[in-house]
Amino acid sequence: MTTVKEIVAAMHKPSEEDVVYIEKAYDLSRRAHEGQLRYSGEPYFIHPAATAKLLAEFGMDATTIAAGLLHDVVEDGKATREDIEKEFGKELLFIVDGVTKLGTHRYHGAERHAESLRRLLVATASDIRVLIVKLADRYHNMQTLEHVPEHKRRRIALETIEIYAPIADRLGMGKVKREIEDLAFPFVDPDAARHTAEVRKLKTKETEDGLAKVRKELVQELAKKGLVTFRTDIRMKGLWSLHQKLSRKHDDITLIHDIAALRIIVPKIEDCYAALGIVHALYRPLPGEFKDYIAFPKPNGYQSLHTTVVTPEAGIVEIQIRTEEMHRSAQFGIASHMSYKQLGKDVEKLEKDMQKSRFSSLSFAWVRSLIPSLLKVSEGDGKSSGETKIPSWLAELAEAHAEVAGSQEFVEGLKEDFFSHRVFVFTPHGDVVDLPTASTPIDFAYAIHSDLGNHLQGAKVNGKLVSFDTALGNGDVVEIIRRDSAHPSPKWVEYAKTSLARRHIRAALGIIEPERRPLRHRNRKHLNRKTAH
Ligand code: MN
Repeated sequence: MTTVKEIVAAMHKPSEEDVVYIEKAYDLSRRAHEGQLRYSGEPYFIHPAATAKLLAEFGMDATTIAAGLLHDVVEDGKATREDIEKEFGKELLFIVDGVTKLGTHRYHGAERHAESLRRLLVATASDIRVLIVKLADRYHNMQTLEHVPEHKRRRIALETIEIYAPIADRLGMGKVKREIEDLAFPFVDPDAARHTAEVRKLKTKETEDGLAKVRKELVQELAKKGLVTFRTDIRMKGLWSLHQKLSRKHDDITLIHDIAALRIIVPKIEDCYAALGIVHALYRPLPGEFKDYIAFPKPNGYQSLHTTVVTPEAGIVEIQIRTEEMHRSAQFGIASHMSYKQLGKDVEKLEKDMQKSRFSSLSFAWVRSLIPSLLKVSEGDGKSSGETKIPSWLAELAEAHAEVAGSQEFVEGLKEDFFSHRVFVFTPHGDVVDLPTASTPIDFAYAIHSDLGNHLQGAKVNGKLVSFDTALGNGDVVEIIRRDSAHPSPKWVEYAKTSLARRHIRAALGIIEPERRPLRHRNRKHLNRKTAH
């Protein structure tokens, strides 16, 4: 069982307040999960505690780590959202809400998963920490997947490879990506997993012996040239990733040169290029195999120099050269840039901070590209008017998903959910209501119930009273104040965006003739896709 001491020890310079906060979350979580068991028969609490420790290792802030401790508390029903908000604040509650799976009574099967994922990504658009908690949650669940009932394992494993691993990759969290893929692989394709493991094992012994000699030679050479502060390590290619590559290379292992790679980790960027010079002077590089991801980082922010050289001791070897900071960033990605910064809603400010630092801010580009596509209708680039601008990683994800038989329904759900022009808002209880863009509290009230609409007295968005013509934004929590004496006014017809609401308002006002100038024309551009359905 992970202790609170271990969690705190994994944190990066926690303040005294942080420690008290984490201890409080730890205690509440332990009490709330008292008596519950995991499929393995162990106490349920091992799961949130392990999730929190992973988040601490990623370098996350106290709020996120506490959210990791409390992420299953509401779903399992022993603590209320109100308690959590009172004790731990709005930010933490927002993260917990985003991670919470939807209740089974409203959604079922694939629909439930699509809905839960939609909610997760909507919440992520305003606070990326939601997604990071979800990844830590999934990471630990994958470590204990063998205990889950057999009929669920494959679905969870597939979802991990198709959805969560690409997300981890997109966030630059290379270590998490590799490990969840390899944990999932045996449940997705047991035969291929066994075969790949055998192939890698055969190759590993000879590679390791060879690499040990190369390392020794290289260490001496670097020292001779004055580069004394550095360390090396050997990284083995992940099994899933090796399997993918083997399939592309017609199962010919001799064509794969990066089963093992030798890493040189140095203090400064200059040292990277100096080390590269020494490596290339010592061993002949393969033409066309050198990549400078320091000058040209990968879209997820990954930085390193990669070169493939021919060595007398070990044949063809991939060598990766990077700084300690790059190394940490390659493992924990976005999380490693976030330590103790209040990221939350302020992505722009964070981007500025990051631009000041040497690090690439590219890892945030996807967040930016995801947010507008969720929040508003793209104007298009002229070529394809009326098309939603889909973040390419999400489109790729959907495509990759489509190849898997049986998950069609899920993909269709994804596409519908993400790619049409909707906003997703929440009731105070956390239920999702989706509405057309520019919908107002009036639309929201009628979407819940016509009686609520007809007696709409006031509306609060995220706790603040707003006027009835306020356009709702993605992720808003909307609370309707009802009063028996309240009635629709003619102005409401203009404010409402949904035909459902307008129909009810007109009925309540006793208006029967159709509008002279239907409001939807204002939104024609936005509606093109809808009408095409
Ligand atoms: Mn969980």
